Amino acid sequence: MAHIKDLLAEAANTLADSSRSAVLDAEVLLCWLLDKNRSFLRAWPDFEVDRATAQRFSQAVSERKDGKPIAYLTGKREFWSRDFIVNNTVLIPRPETELLVALSLSLINPSQAQHIIDLGTGSGVIAITLAMECPHAHIYAVDASPLALATAQQNAVLHHASNIRFYLSDWFDGVPEGRFDLVVSNPPYIDADDEHLQHGDVRFEPPSALIASQQGLGDLLKIADSARKHLKTGGHLLLEHGYNQAAAVQVLLAQWGYQSVQTHLDLAGQARVTVGQWLG
Ligand code: GLN
Repeated sequence: MAHIKDLLAEAANTLADSSRSAVLDAEVLLCWLLDKNRSFLRAWPDFEVDRATAQRFSQAVSERKDGKPIAYLTGKREFWSRDFIVNNTVLIPRPETELLVALSLSLINPSQAQHIIDLGTGSGVIAITLAMECPHAHIYAVDASPLALATAQQNAVLHHASNIRFYLSDWFDGVPEGRFDLVVSNPPYIDADDEHLQHGDVRFEPPSALIASQQGLGDLLKIADSARKHLKTGGHLLLEHGYNQAAAVQVLLAQWGYQSVQTHLDLAGQARVTVGQWLG
């Protein structure tokens, strides 16, 4: 039998060269396998871990050493204070995407039955969070990947979010007629040659959720263009984008007739979400 403190020390040592958060990674993996929180690990360093769990831990640490993201190992990631199921068919939710949700909430009238569409929903974090925060809203969640859509549907069941409809659709192509108060999206926006794709979690994430043509602007462009035909007069388009794409996105939104175009900074101070209003 191995003690918690020894398992953690060995794992942190194993991960030291491959992860910038070796100690935290080891703790998170052991918490997951023991179904305990981190304060348990601190309070009970001499707790004896059974052999089968210790073996699963060592397997997880070795996969982590090979770069596999923590969220794909544990199968979950927190977003807007809720746990969501994730797997390698969906992008791992990022904290900066909470800005997109916060801005959406600031534009939704909670007492009205507004229509909101999330394009490229992936694990469903944006759509499900909006559905739960705005129970009167009608949420449409769209993805072109059947496996991603199945994961989003699992998450909706997990959180009892019933005011969402799911569509297997390439952006707006398979969505029913009708206009939306809000069109939101965290589309792929990384250029295929971006060297950022060679490091960290993105190496394991679905390329279709990360990479876009035209220096990463291809899908942002397509969405901004077609959203004009799907927004109500006075409705808003909210797009997450790369830290260095704000100027390009602002120009294209202005060119296509969106008004009051404005970019907002995420908590890390990066230009992350651009909003435009459609006045018809
Ligand atoms: N923000 C993610 C990253 O830079 C990319 C997400 C996306 O392309 N939508 O790792």
